[in-house]
Amino acid sequence: MIKHLVMFSGGACSYMAAKRVIERHGKDGVVLLFADTLIEDPTLYEFLDSSSKFLDVPLIKISDGRTPFEVFEDVRFLGNSRIDPCSRILKRDLLNKWREDNCDVETCLTHFGLDFNEPHRLRRVEEKHAPWKVAAYMTELPVVTKEMMLQEIKDDGLVPCDLYNHGFSHANCGGGCIKSGIAQFTLLLKTHPERFAVWEKAEKNMREMLGKDVSILRNQKNGVRKNVTLEDLRIRITGGDQLTFEESCDFGGCGCAVE
Ligand code: SF4
Repeated sequence: MIKHLVMFSGGACSYMAAKRVIERHGKDGVVLLFADTLIEDPTLYEFLDSSSKFLDVPLIKISDGRTPFEVFEDVRFLGNSRIDPCSRILKRDLLNKWREDNCDVETCLTHFGLDFNEPHRLRRVEEKHAPWKVAAYMTELPVVTKEMMLQEIKDDGLVPCDLYNHGFSHANCGGGCIKSGIAQFTLLLKTHPERFAVWEKAEKNMREMLGKDVSILRNQKNGVRKNVTLEDLRIRITGGDQLTFEESCDFGGCGCAVE
C-alpha cells in the first residue's frame, strides 16, 4: 500500500523531500513518482535512477508520450510563464490520474518538493489537491538552502543534474522551461546552444502554425510589454549585447507539478 507518494522531479528539493519522508516515516510504503516530459537533461534521468537506488524506494516513471512542444501544437497554444498547458497535461493531470488509480485518499499522503522559501505555496497546493492530504517537509525547519541540498546529494555519493553546475536554479525540461525568464534562456543559449536551437525552432514553428506574434518570453519597459522571440534573444546576445539589470534578474520560476 502506498502511504507516502513523493512527487519526484529529479530536482534537488524533491530528493531532499524524499529523504525527510524516509527519515520521519521509514521506507515502507514510500514511492517516488516522476512524470517524464521526454526532454529532460540526460543527467537528470541518471539522477532519478541512482537516487531511487540510494534511497532504496521504488521509482515509478510515467509519460503522456508527448513533449511540451508537441502539446503546444496539439492545443494550438504556445505555453508561457502565465499559461502552461504542458505542465497541466504532461505533469499535473497525469500525476493526479496515477494517484487516483493507484492510491487511497484515506491513507496516502502526497509530498511536494517545495523549499523553505515557499510555505505560502503549500496552502494553495492543499486547496487544489483536496481531499488528498499533502505535505512539503522542506518548507519546515531546519532550513536547507539549495547549496546545502546539492552538497548533501554529493555527500550521499550521487551526482545531481548537471544543469545546477551551469547556474540553473531549476533542472526541469532540460533548462528550457517555458516559465523561465530572459536570464535563464540566455544561460541556456550560452551553455547549451544546440538545445536552445531546438527550442528556437519549435517556437518559430508555432508562430508559423498559428500565424500570430506569440513568444515564450516577454519584456517590459516603461510599463509596455513586448514579445521577445528566442530568435530575437539569440541575435541580440550573440551580437554582444548585454542584458539589462532587470533582465539579468528574470530567471522566472517553475513549480511544474505543484500548481
Ligand atoms: S517544466 Fe516548464 S516546460 Fe516543462 S512541462 Fe513544466 S512548465 Fe512545461
